Amino acid sequence: MRFSAFFAPTLKEAPKDATLKSHEYLIRGGYIQQVGSGIYNFLPLGKRVMDKIRQVVKEEMDQAGAQEVMLGFVTPAELWRNSGRFEKYGKELLRFKDRKENDFVLGPTHEEMVVELAKGYVKSYKQLPLHLYQIHLKFRDEIRPRFGLMRGREFVMKDGYSFHANEADLIREFELMEATYKRIFTRLGLDFRVVEADSGAIGGSGSKEFMVLAQSGEDTIAVCDSCEYAANIEAAKRRAKKVDSPAPIASFSKFKTPEVKSIEALAEFFRVDPFYTLKAVVKKAFFDGGKSELAFFFLRGCDSLQETKACNAIGANELLDVSEEELIKAGLEPGFIGPYALKNLTGANHILFDLELKDAQGLIAGANERDHHFVGVNLGEFEGLIYKDLAEVGEGDGCPLCEGRLTYKKGIEVGHIFQLGTRYSEPLGANFLNPEGKSQPLVMGCYGIGVSRLLAAVIEQHHDEKGCIWTKSTAPFDLVIVVSNVKDPSQKAYAENLYNALQKEGIEVLLDDRDERYGSKMADFELLGIPYAVIVGKGLIEGQVELVNRANLQKGIVLADDILGRILEL
Ligand code: ATP
Ligand code: MG
Repeated sequence: MRFSAFFAPTLKEAPKDATLKSHEYLIRGGYIQQVGSGIYNFLPLGKRVMDKIRQVVKEEMDQAGAQEVMLGFVTPAELWRNSGRFEKYGKELLRFKDRKENDFVLGPTHEEMVVELAKGYVKSYKQLPLHLYQIHLKFRDEIRPRFGLMRGREFVMKDGYSFHANEADLIREFELMEATYKRIFTRLGLDFRVVEADSGAIGGSGSKEFMVLAQSGEDTIAVCDSCEYAANIEAAKRRAKKVDSPAPIASFSKFKTPEVKSIEALAEFFRVDPFYTLKAVVKKAFFDGGKSELAFFFLRGCDSLQETKACNAIGANELLDVSEEELIKAGLEPGFIGPYALKNLTGANHILFDLELKDAQGLIAGANERDHHFVGVNLGEFEGLIYKDLAEVGEGDGCPLCEGRLTYKKGIEVGHIFQLGTRYSEPLGANFLNPEGKSQPLVMGCYGIGVSRLLAAVIEQHHDEKGCIWTKSTAPFDLVIVVSNVKDPSQKAYAENLYNALQKEGIEVLLDDRDERYGSKMADFELLGIPYAVIVGKGLIEGQVELVNRANLQKGIVLADDILGRILEL
């Protein structure tokens, strides 16, 4: 490709709302153009990178035995009603009507569509397993589209769906996909971690995310400093916490604790480790159909509530904070909330305790009475308490698998694989006949990769203050030939020759033959992030050209006659 004829409009100014380098560079480099909130056009450069990523994904998926299809983007709402998600999915689901007043949605994910497809054809265990995938548009009306391609509303996903006759075969495929994804992200040149993930409202036994490590990542992951354990903070586990100081010895009694409202004040007042205090977190929980109620979560004073865990524990869609006024209106004493008589007081349906509080002794807890706490609280003496994993894992906590410690890292979620089981096949009536001739629902898995998000993820991990640094397999071109002065016929002729020779060798090369200043051509090379540049300049008279490595911007002089060989070596 000749740059003089190439549509790659580079910009000097960063977009005003760009806080991430990937967002800035992809716009300034002429890779993408924003057309609306969370909606982008892909220009030739962006399309080339997208195709590179798509190709790697496709090769590995095909290699693993999956088959590419293309499912309708516009989905009849009927399918979503049948799965129960038309209401449940919330505002991210874009719903609309056609001219005949029929309801439709723009697919934010395609379980419903693909189950409908399988239902039409898969009748017997003999047709299983089957894995179909597509690389196609998705639409999610995200509440905060931002960071360019990182969180768009319209974006490209690779979504695959597998169908199995039994759980064991699903697990085989799940493991195959984990291995396949590792190959994909390794080939793309990314530093990533596979982490245990929140399985969400869907439940199911296994869900793993693939996180590209980057400071700007929106996800926090807990990783062990000595073994392989890594988990999204939303799902991370830890070795049960212990403290050196023994539990305070006190028989059960009520204490006057004037104005002692916080955990710190309480621990200070009784001179105990906050570990031995009981923290009450009250949230307003929202459920399907929009109904809401107060939910109570008890943790050790030293811990904090992990909201995703809390949501899952009670099957809520969202948790919001509750003001002091609302607490008082519900008959509660802010700062003194405890488990005693709480159900009678509030009629609450959701009162939960963190798993690590199981049979805890010698606790100090609010008395549900102004300026009073109970001491000597032994939870083992209560009947029917509900214990769930609610606490957020902190840095320095113990690894659940070994003696190591957990630390936090930031990650960008680029893939998510899921064991769905019969969550969709059952309500949608997608059944097959098993070897015994009995009808049973298909066992399913689903596997997503954020293909358009990957453009941003690669750049978040690989850039400098001048621009993009694409990895070998994601670069839009392998090399740029920069003709320093296009008016110099010998430079021009040499560059043309090299350009043709490289193309014959199957190298994707951009010939910068524009009549521009050398400095601005080099600035474009740095911004675009193509792995190498050959600079054809004054040195040509002495039979020399320069080879620049974009990753470290190091330059080396190479004999003009040797350059083809050097490039082929690279
Ligand atoms: P997130 O937590 O980032 O919102 P998600 O968990 O909702 O993502 P999935 O339903 O697991 O996303 O979708 C599969 C993949 O699609 C994700 O791993 C991510 O890489 C990509 N993806 C999801 N939402 C977006 C978006 N708004 N823009 C670009 N890519 C996205
Ligand atoms: Mg996900």
